[in-house]
Amino acid sequence: MEIRATADKLYSIRVTEQTETESIGGVAAEELPGRIYETQSLMVDGVSGATITSDAIKDAVRAALLSGGFDPTVYEVEAHYQAEALRYDVTEADVIVVGAGGAGMTAAYTAREQGASVILLEKSGVVGGNSLCAQMGINAADSQVQQELGMNYATAENLKAAHIRYGGRENVVDAYVASSGETVDWLRDTLNINFTYGGRGEIDPADPLASVGEDHPSGSELFMVRADDDGYTTLTLVNALTTALDNAGVTLYKQTEATALITDGTGRVTGVKAVSADGQKIEFTGKTVILATGGFGQNHDMLVQIRPDLANAITDEIAPTTGDGIRMAQELGAKTVDMEYLQTFPHAIYGDTWLPPMAMPGGFMTTAIFVNQDAQRYTTEGFETSADTLQQQAVYCVFNEDDLNDNLKQLQARGFIQSGDTVEELAAALGLEPAALRATVDQWNADCDAGQDSQFDRHNLKPLAGKLYGYRFGVGAHYFMGGLLINERTQVLDENEQPIAGLYAAGETTGGFHGSVRVDGSGVGDAFVFGHLSGQMASQEALG
Ligand SMILES: Cc1cc2nc3c(=O)[nH]c(=O)nc-3n(C[C@H](O)[C@H](O)[C@H](O)COP(=O)(O)OP(=O)(O)OC[C@H]3O[C@@H](n4cnc5c(N)ncnc54)[C@H](O)[C@@H]3O)c2cc1C
Repeated sequence: MEIRATADKLYSIRVTEQTETESIGGVAAEELPGRIYETQSLMVDGVSGATITSDAIKDAVRAALLSGGFDPTVYEVEAHYQAEALRYDVTEADVIVVGAGGAGMTAAYTAREQGASVILLEKSGVVGGNSLCAQMGINAADSQVQQELGMNYATAENLKAAHIRYGGRENVVDAYVASSGETVDWLRDTLNINFTYGGRGEIDPADPLASVGEDHPSGSELFMVRADDDGYTTLTLVNALTTALDNAGVTLYKQTEATALITDGTGRVTGVKAVSADGQKIEFTGKTVILATGGFGQNHDMLVQIRPDLANAITDEIAPTTGDGIRMAQELGAKTVDMEYLQTFPHAIYGDTWLPPMAMPGGFMTTAIFVNQDAQRYTTEGFETSADTLQQQAVYCVFNEDDLNDNLKQLQARGFIQSGDTVEELAAALGLEPAALRATVDQWNADCDAGQDSQFDRHNLKPLAGKLYGYRFGVGAHYFMGGLLINERTQVLDENEQPIAGLYAAGETTGGFHGSVRVDGSGVGDAFVFGHLSGQMASQEALG
């Protein structure tokens, strides 16, 4: 960064170089310097959805001030940034898409490519949704890409067999299987994505579908392609789509939350009501509407109503996915299926972010202890401790300084990780009873000295010493298999399984494809394949 300042005035702030993800951190790099300049404050709100980069920019300004011999605390003043009112010049289009995650962005771009005018609404300040979290690629069949990669098992027959066994609707599974190859080839040809083989393990020629039938079904060896540039397929796709949507003239309104569907006298969906982050109420008119609002991990009430056993769960979904699409369609009589089936993630950090398990002291190789609200250990620490964790009202991971890796340092800077020079200090920071945590740590350290866990049967014993760290975590509601029942044209169906005229849906907000289990790689696939198909179908209807 480059700043021009005196001791009490900032004259200019410029990000001279950055390598952030364009659709998230890139937005903060563009917007935040202006906000800091206008308010002359480092306490101004960051860009919603891009908190880490926003914090980094503020830190860089502080560092620059220090390097110039100035006192950054002069700029630590309360400030409210009054953004210009959001403008809605275009409120009518052939197709309205709600939600700019993988499914919505793909749907919007496809519909535009087919010749439809498109408005894309996004509730948060950034595009990409939870699709940005996914590490895996896309499961597909019979694409040219796969044929060129020699993926001989990626046939329609195998892909269908892998999915149908978990109770997916046959017509929906067939639609996925038929569209998946075309979608992958289309992504390559229109967005210039280079795909590579996404599998890691061996395939048993005698039983190629073996990996898809186990407890944790993985279709990666047989069907998965990944973007080959950075390994994060969804990031690559979201970045490419961000540019493509802009170039194609799709009208994107961020910070705009759809609240209800509009219908005409016959019950046909003709638009969407929405509210902007600055409180404006807007109505968008369209010939067709596509709902792509993701799951409902961020709606704890809805989660617990459907799965009371998850009352103590949190979520690792980073986008504000609160089941809005499901609710809006249900108000028109839409049918939902498989709502009770959802995947959980055993160790998610309490807050608004997600870390891969290998980056956590509570991850695959546990080096920490887990304690409950009474500062008592409650399980043999490990990765798969969901059942025990869900019994506790609150759980905390306590660990040593040498486990504080770079990922955790970032979280610490954002206030998710607490520390203490003593056990008592850490307890106070976590809101635990100091004497109780002291007793637990002393017992644990005595067990480590004795070489035996006296409470549970844990074998990797690492004492807790010196400065200690801790964070609250929980079992995360991670992926929602069920949702709005769609048909093979991605139309949303009513209770009689008849299409609701003008209404389509795609991605995690839908049900009918997975049944009770998500095959690894078919979550990302669900978003991009059905996003593409819904864009084709909704634009065809809109354009007559
Ligand atoms: C941590 C994590 C890791 C994952 N890893 C994998 C993986 O490795 N492989 C895999 O297959 N799947 C994975 N998944 C699942 C996969 O990422 C998602 O299922 C998929 O990306 C969902 O895409 P989507 O477009 O349907 O929804 P999202 O990407 O969640 O997008 C929904 C969008 O709708 C917006 N929205 C919501 N309500 C409204 C409203 N009322 N108005 C306007 N906008 C609204 C949201 O802000 C969001 O941007 C993972 C999920 C998580 C959380």
